[in-house]
Amino acid sequence: MIELKNVTKKYGSFLALDDVSFKIEEGEIVGLLGPNGAGKSTTMNIITGYIEQTSGDVIVAGYDMLKKSKKAKKEIGYMPEGVPLYLDLTVKEFIKYMAELKQVNKRERKEKINEIIEKTGLENVQNKLIRNISRGYKQRVSLAGALVGDPKILILDEPTVGLDPKQITEIRKLIKKLGKNHTVIISSHILSEISQVCSKVIIINKGKILAVDTPKNLENRVVGNNRVYVTVEDKKDRMKDIKKKIKGLKTIELIKENEDKTKEYMLEGEKDVDLRKTIFEVLAKEDITVFEMKKADATLEEAFIKIIEGGKK
Ligand code: ADP
Ligand code: MG
Repeated sequence: MIELKNVTKKYGSFLALDDVSFKIEEGEIVGLLGPNGAGKSTTMNIITGYIEQTSGDVIVAGYDMLKKSKKAKKEIGYMPEGVPLYLDLTVKEFIKYMAELKQVNKRERKEKINEIIEKTGLENVQNKLIRNISRGYKQRVSLAGALVGDPKILILDEPTVGLDPKQITEIRKLIKKLGKNHTVIISSHILSEISQVCSKVIIINKGKILAVDTPKNLENRVVGNNRVYVTVEDKKDRMKDIKKKIKGLKTIELIKENEDKTKEYMLEGEKDVDLRKTIFEVLAKEDITVFEMKKADATLEEAFIKIIEGGKK
């Protein structure tokens, strides 16, 4: 659906995108993730044909963005960074204006506009001036603008910046819903944003792609899916001999001793082995009482930081 091949972008002598390549299939919801200044907006502006790359190819819905920009652009709905600028229009007037710009068929226009207002939950504010509605609604108006013309692809640049938690949840829900009928790219510098909505994450920093993977796999890059934390009561002091009794166990480490004499251990298995069942069985057999057992929660946050820091070297 979208393909970037060796795309570079220079602003003067500054290299903002450095040999960026990736592919996004139809129906995917993809997160473009990176700190401020990473090149997210630049990438999005190039995909939408808003600015031109310095070199490399951008293919959108089968069209080369430089050679068939009109056709390519028709397939894209773009929600730029920030909120819509047309503060003195009403919500409905803005969407109407977008429909004129995108040359939506005159006979269908009214119906399409109402459809979009309903889809984005703007019924209650449709006749209000954009300047007078909340930030959350402004974001929706911007999203509504992107939906005009039934584009197959939605490009959303930091859609939740400046929203409060409730508004974030609402926009996220809306994006998820839109993801059912569109290919979506969302940029963000916040991880939790992306992990909850996206099936794939592209991590970018300083104009370079550092990773393309599922949120789950990115988490697993930090702590494999193979660490288990157990809190035990080990009256007979048998934990020290446990290593050879659990097949696939790589390390065992005492994390802390609690006041109630229980001890917390970290057990790490060979790559991608889930040891929980074995651990439980072996400890029971050894007369070690398990008070608590949990898997390590590596967060995407950690993965993100690690990948970005790794990329710096
Ligand atoms: P992000 O959206 O990830 O925060 P941008 O794509 O906006 O990052 O910017 C990437 C880099 O390119 C930044 O260092 C930014 O300062 C620089 N940059 C962006 N737009 C321009 C421009 N029009 N002229 C010069 N430098 C720019
Ligand atoms: Mg940006």
